[in-house]
Amino acid sequence: MSKFHRYKDRDVELDSSKQFRLGEGKISGYCSVLLGALSLLGVLAYLFPSYLTTTELRQVYDAETLQNVLKYGMYFSLFFGGITFVLKKFRSLGSIGIGLTVVAFLLGGYKVPVSDVEPMHLSLGVDWLILAFLGSAFIFVTAEKLFPKYKNQVILRDEWGLDLFYFCFNHLAISAIILYGNYHASHFDWAISASVQESIQSMPILLQVGLIVLCADFVLYWEHRLYHEVSWLWPVHAVHHSVENLDWLAGSRGHFIQVFSERAMVMIPLYLLGADQTALNIYVAFAALQAVFIHCNLGINFGPLKYVFVTPQFHHWHHSSEKPAIDTNYSAHTILFDWMFNTMHLPREYWPADYGTTKPLPKTYLGQMFYPLQQFYKK
Ligand SMILES: [Zn+2]
Ligand SMILES: [Zn+2]
Repeated sequence: MSKFHRYKDRDVELDSSKQFRLGEGKISGYCSVLLGALSLLGVLAYLFPSYLTTTELRQVYDAETLQNVLKYGMYFSLFFGGITFVLKKFRSLGSIGIGLTVVAFLLGGYKVPVSDVEPMHLSLGVDWLILAFLGSAFIFVTAEKLFPKYKNQVILRDEWGLDLFYFCFNHLAISAIILYGNYHASHFDWAISASVQESIQSMPILLQVGLIVLCADFVLYWEHRLYHEVSWLWPVHAVHHSVENLDWLAGSRGHFIQVFSERAMVMIPLYLLGADQTALNIYVAFAALQAVFIHCNLGINFGPLKYVFVTPQFHHWHHSSEKPAIDTNYSAHTILFDWMFNTMHLPREYWPADYGTTKPLPKTYLGQMFYPLQQFYKK
């Protein structure tokens, strides 16, 4: 079928009013607000760690070292805010940034003492939100600026605010997601085999990681395929497909039912394999980075590797509304199962010309949350 499809290049018009240019004060203004907001959140996390930090994440970082990061964040927010006044442009953004940082200072700033934390069952992942945002914004925005697929696509593209909201929600809900995932996996106790787990643990770490990747990919492939091919499940997943400009933030868009179910399903193979904690940590880091990476606006040529791993080109085709690409490329990590089950669409050097769903979805968070229900009652 794809033989008869005419591939076109996608046109992205440059909206220069949304561009960031040096010397205009706009970059400083946005940096000031961003760092001010993150600093304030950071101080709140130091003040109320039981409620605003994640037990699993606290074991990985050192809270005292991160106070230095907070210190620089606060001073840079003031510095960037000051620049907007020097340039006499975007002073309102500068004022908001400075205001947020002043509140952060008044609440104790980077000097709030690090205290012992009483672990809670449920908390908000403010620490996870801050670290993931700083890390992914830095790595992926830099990469997108250096190697863009669509040069004219701006950082503040259409609906970036909506996707930022999804990003915040998904990260704040991390402890609820883990709690639900563990509860879900505990129903599979009957399938645990001590001898299988022992032999897996005796394997070299990288082999364990490879095994986890393949098992997780198999579960994610079928979960994803069901979301596409079972008609009453599609409206839930359609929210993820409603984004029309893919970048580092776009992958965050997803109905909370999908976010929770995806993590819960992938927890089953992780739980049953019983691999070494190091192997698990490597897999979690790999999966988290790859999930952002494959949505990025990145035109890097991966050579033969694109026939092994899911790359931006592969997953961009999954988001295309062009006929030969519909219901293809379900895999999350490697392309193995799409290749095996004949659902792969990767036409050499071509990229999609059209993105999004064939039927338009509501453009607001609440509209998208209720979209599945609305579709259900329509039938
Ligand atoms: Zn999909
Ligand atoms: Zn996607």
